[in-house]
Amino acid sequence: MSARIIDGKALSAQVRAEIALRVGELVKRGTTPGLAVVLVGEDAASQIYVRNKAAACEAAGMLSRAIQLGADTTEDELLDVIDSLNRDPAIHGILVQLPLPGHINAGSVIESISPLKDVDGFHVSNAGLLMTGRPLFRPCTPYGIMKMLESEATPLRGAEAVIVGASNIVGKPMAMLLLAAGATVTLCNSKTRDLASQTRRADVLVVATGKPGIVTGDMIKRGAVVIDVGINRLANGKLVGDVDFESAVPIASAITPVPGGVGPMTIAMLLMNTLEAAERTARH
Ligand code: NDP
Repeated sequence: MSARIIDGKALSAQVRAEIALRVGELVKRGTTPGLAVVLVGEDAASQIYVRNKAAACEAAGMLSRAIQLGADTTEDELLDVIDSLNRDPAIHGILVQLPLPGHINAGSVIESISPLKDVDGFHVSNAGLLMTGRPLFRPCTPYGIMKMLESEATPLRGAEAVIVGASNIVGKPMAMLLLAAGATVTLCNSKTRDLASQTRRADVLVVATGKPGIVTGDMIKRGAVVIDVGINRLANGKLVGDVDFESAVPIASAITPVPGGVGPMTIAMLLMNTLEAAERTARH
């Protein structure tokens, strides 16, 4: 048996088409959803991410504002930019591209974004709302994964869900969303003893460590749904995930590829969060 490949590109196109329709409705009622993406410095990868986000935004009929600041921008200058975006009625979502240069405290910057415009869902008050089961913004990557599981009709109620990687942006919010869906959740980190004994119990396995090939086929339960979040560039230039795809495919029932899996969904859900923020504003 060979796992079904969960096509993140195709699903994200569907989600974006749905978003474009909802944007059209909102525009008719006088509100154009607006996303501001703030980039500090000249990191090449970040510049590509920001361009992709802006292009996706415009393709969905939203307003996109890219704000590029020099690498020597001070924290106070950046906080001033965020303050004016917080007060700008044309902007419904604010995203500060990470990582920030070392002299800027990323935590202070994230906390300065209005929780009502925090489309990444990283602000402590949004993390708290998610944890207490009243999410306002769901962080984009786990939100996209939930959409993928929904599209696969993966049963989550009572399922064993194991997440490898416990970061604030992927692993922890993923755990909250799966828990809310009724799964029994195990969250593993770099100190986990005998990782394979945890992963082998998983009906749903999410891997987000940044360690290429950390999960191999022999660590997967037969028939599991495997979501590979990792994006790793090998020395030969090839892009791979955290799961060893070749050995996992014969064991899993469904699996996300890298590239073309979780990545495209993350951008689609950023648009979804911006749209939802604009819809909430329009309601008030
Ligand atoms: P972080 O580095 O912030 O977190 C990595 C997590 O993995 C930590 O919790 C760490 O444990 C855990 N970990 C590391 N080594 C092991 C190990 N040997 N066994 C078990 N757990 C381990 O990474 P991110 O969450 O930001 O990203 C993870 C990966 O996902 C990266 O490849 C990143 O590029 C990718 N990514 C992809 C996205 C997409 O859209 N597809 C979006 C975001 C990220 P500990 O807490 O103990 O340090």
